[in-house]
Amino acid sequence: MPEEYPAPSEDLQFCPHCAAPLVLRLLPTEDRPRLVCECDHILYLNPKVIVGVIPERRGRVLLMRRAIEPRHGAWTFPGGFMEIDETVEECAVREAQEEVGVHVRLIELVGVYSRPAPAAPGIVSIAYRGRVISGRVSPGREALEARWVRPEEIPWDDLAYETTRWALRDWLKTRRGRP
Ligand SMILES: [Zn+2]
Repeated sequence: MPEEYPAPSEDLQFCPHCAAPLVLRLLPTEDRPRLVCECDHILYLNPKVIVGVIPERRGRVLLMRRAIEPRHGAWTFPGGFMEIDETVEECAVREAQEEVGVHVRLIELVGVYSRPAPAAPGIVSIAYRGRVISGRVSPGREALEARWVRPEEIPWDDLAYETTRWALRDWLKTRRGRP
């Protein structure tokens, strides 16, 4: 297997259809080795989607500190993995409700982010701007605290992920020239 491809996770050993062992093989129809089963099922490994929302009100942004690993204690905005039965917009609204207790109306897309190999964790991150329209700020079980911060107070050195930083940077750009 060429080194530039991320190795499939070692726990993916069995076919989800027939439970037979999967084998890593380069098929004539594929451009990289795939996990293949004797029943002809091919297990494609594709990224998962994380959707976040940057809640804002009167020029401030609502940030929270993570109460869970990884990056326990670091600052971020509400976000999480998309459920199988929801849209990206529904996911963004749900995460704001669950993680910081507010209802947001989405304003616009801030950005879509992924990281190049070898850092790529197989994740696509999508971030929206959201105006807080109701609810009282209350940290959910995944947040230690939640706080309104002005743009100049964003804790750039203590953000959870590189993608958190990219999204907040782009959020600042979307605000340029606005009241
Ligand atoms: Zn199979």
